[in-house]
Amino acid sequence: MYEPRYFKDDEFRKLTPSCSIAQMDKNLMEGLDELREAVGMPFIITSAYRSLDWELAKGRPGTSAHTKGMAVDVSCPNSYFTRRVLEEALKRPQYFKGIGVGKNFIHLDVMYRSFAPLVWGY
Ligand SMILES: [Zn+2]
Repeated sequence: MYEPRYFKDDEFRKLTPSCSIAQMDKNLMEGLDELREAVGMPFIITSAYRSLDWELAKGRPGTSAHTKGMAVDVSCPNSYFTRRVLEEALKRPQYFKGIGVGKNFIHLDVMYRSFAPLVWGY
């Protein structure tokens, strides 16, 4: 298992739904470590692995990269943080294939897409 420099298993255990770093894609965790280093500010993860059953129970289609452990949502306390994460993530297309910008979070995933990186808003 990849042991991230900047992220602890406890952070993943406390999420809803709870998960662990062992359920996360290695490429995603490597990319997140690199991104965290480049951004130079703390990352608060608000969502990571979510099971297919969890997604379906929430009325979602179950196609999210979260169901494969290939996505995280990171809290964005201000627009400067959002900008920094976005600009550094776009410099790393070898990791980040999907970037969704919400009002106070940013979704980052490493799921394969032919026209990556795909960037969207919520
Ligand atoms: Zn997400």
